Parts: sequence; C-alpha cells; structure tokens
Amino acid sequence: MARPAQAHIDLDAILANYRAAKVCAPQARAMAIIKANAYGHGAVAVAHALAEQADAFGVACIEEALELRAAGIKQPICLLEGFFSAEEIPLMLQHQLIPAIHHAAQLALLAQYLPLCTQKTQLKVWLKLDSGMHRLGFAPEDIANAYQDLTALPVQVLGLMTHFARADELTCPYTQTQWQLTQQWAQSLNLALCCANSPATLAWPSTHADWIRPGIMLYGATPIPEAQTPVQLRAGMRLISQLISVRDLAAGEGVGYGQTFVTSQPSRIGVVAMGYADGYPRHAPSGTPVYLEKLGACVPLIGRVSMDMLAVDLSTYAQAQVGDTVELWGPHLPINQVAEAAQSIAYELLTKVTARVPRYYH
Ligand code: PLP
Repeated sequence: MARPAQAHIDLDAILANYRAAKVCAPQARAMAIIKANAYGHGAVAVAHALAEQADAFGVACIEEALELRAAGIKQPICLLEGFFSAEEIPLMLQHQLIPAIHHAAQLALLAQYLPLCTQKTQLKVWLKLDSGMHRLGFAPEDIANAYQDLTALPVQVLGLMTHFARADELTCPYTQTQWQLTQQWAQSLNLALCCANSPATLAWPSTHADWIRPGIMLYGATPIPEAQTPVQLRAGMRLISQLISVRDLAAGEGVGYGQTFVTSQPSRIGVVAMGYADGYPRHAPSGTPVYLEKLGACVPLIGRVSMDMLAVDLSTYAQAQVGDTVELWGPHLPINQVAEAAQSIAYELLTKVTARVPRYYH
C-alpha cells in the first residue's frame, strides 16, 4: 500500500488555463513557461499536454530544454536564463533552442564559438532588455549596441524581451514605465516584443504585444487578487494525503514538537501523512486551512509541521477516521490561501513539492 501523500496533476486544467491566457491576450502568441519542472507539475507531461496549443515553451536552462527534446517535444523552446558556457552553443544549434541573450559575456562567447560550429541550422535568440527589474538584460544605454553585435553574427533575433518587476501590484505605475521604455526600444530596433508574465497577462492588457509568457496562471494560481482576475483558473495540482492517526486529547495537552499548540478543551486531533520533506511549508502556522474531503470543509492545522506529518484539529468533525482523504491544496482549497497563511507564494509551494510525492496525471 502506497504512502497516501500524492500530487494529482490535472492536465486538462492546465490546458484550460493556457487557453484562458490566450483569451486574455487574443492577438498575442504565448510562450508557456514550464521551467522548474513546470512549477513542480512535471515539465514533460505538461509540455505534452500543451504541445498542440503552445506557440513555444520557456524554461530556465539547457538541461530543462534537453529533457523536453529527449521526450519528443518539438516546439520552440526558449532558455530564459540564456546560456552559460561555450559547450552549450553547438547543443543549442543541434536542438534548436532559443537563448535569451542578456549579457555581454554571452555575445563574446557567440562571437568566438559560433563560427566554429558545423551545424547547418541558424541560432535563433531573444534579446533581453533590463527595463527596470535589474536582474537580467542589457541596460537601455547598451541595448542598441548589443543588437548590432548580434546582427553581425549568424543569428536570427526573434525579438526583444523584458521582465516586469511589479506587475502583480495593480495600482503601481512601474509596469507602465517598464512597458513604455521597452516598447520604444522595440520600435526603434524594429523588433517583436515579449513582456507579459501572468500578472501582466491578466491585468495589463496594454503590455501583451506580440508574445506573452504566462507561468503561474497555467497552474491555476492567480498572482493578482481573485476579484480582479478576468478569467477562471483551475487548480493544476491537487496535493492530497490521508489521516493516518486520530486521537482524543483532554484540555491542556500540547501537540507536536515544541508543543506550540495546546488544546483549550477536549479535542480530537488528526495526523496527516504530509510534512516538510514532502514540500509542505514548515512555517505554516496553526490555523492554516486543510480541506477534509468527507467533511467538505476545512479544519485548522495545529502545532508545528514536522518532516513527514502534520496535525489538524478535528474537534468539529466527530466522524473523522483513519484513511479519510485530506487536500492540502487544490480545487477545494486554493493554494494562494495556504501560501498566504505560510507567508509564502504559490510559486514557492508548488516548486517545493519534493520527489517523494508521486505525481499522478489525469
Ligand atoms: N518570464 C520570465 C523571464 C520569468 O522568470 C518568469 C517566471 O518567473 C515568467 C516569465 C513567468 O512568470 P509568472 O509565473 O509570474 O507568469
């Protein structure tokens, strides 16, 4: 009998979410962001599910892209962090991978090593502008030179890319500032434009341009307030487990490490096979919601999350039994609620679900 901690991945939901992104940005093409193992959902499975629809995929690095190519994924794949070494250049040509060129060090490697490559294909690249995130990209004063350097090489520049720092803050004008700067450069260099991550796809239609790059929304978590989200998103992951122990405690008993939770009245306590070694956030405090399937409602987490287990207060649920199914997040319990309680974000929770948790695909 398998341990009941499991992640059920709803590939139809992910496809529906991709379509919802396209509804938000009907004129744009979409690069589905499936880096970090598709935010923990399984990059190969997600890529196969989206293969017919997605205009391109985005991953962080060549290792993630090669995994997709080995699994038969044929769509264009963009390497969002670009590349790091000369050895990657022939591999990018061989597998038709598209790096984001964001630094002079990459231009130097291309200038030195591209002429030595024997592959017949032409390298396609995106040029990345640092419009204000100050993470990756050429500064505005360097972008025209970077573009010129690229055009002197045997590469095809697909367009200009930038990344928004604060698109999830709907009243913050910074996204508009970044957008205007990027748009000006795209116009002046006559390049296609790719800017919008999920929050911009959902909330900043003026930035959709030629390509959008949705990530988190594909997995059903909205990065903006629910009320302002213009489309319905469906949870991509249902993280479940079971009650593996149920006990009654008198008032005044401490539960778990450090006894940080003490029963204030006679209580029924359940133990769930799910801990921080599965990726559940250790810092989720007492009160974090946990959904009980049979009850059709949430009960509160209590005490400290331990490596393999967590405890819940079942006092409102007299029928609780060992074997009852518990949803830690999913269609009945939005992951954003858990993330908020744990002072984290859905991105972190999803990508931290560990390999110990088997993924089941539906
Ligand atoms: N584009 C880049 C360069 C990113 O780093 C990311 C994610 O961090 C995305 C797009 C997708 O962002 P989101 O998951 O917020 O849609």
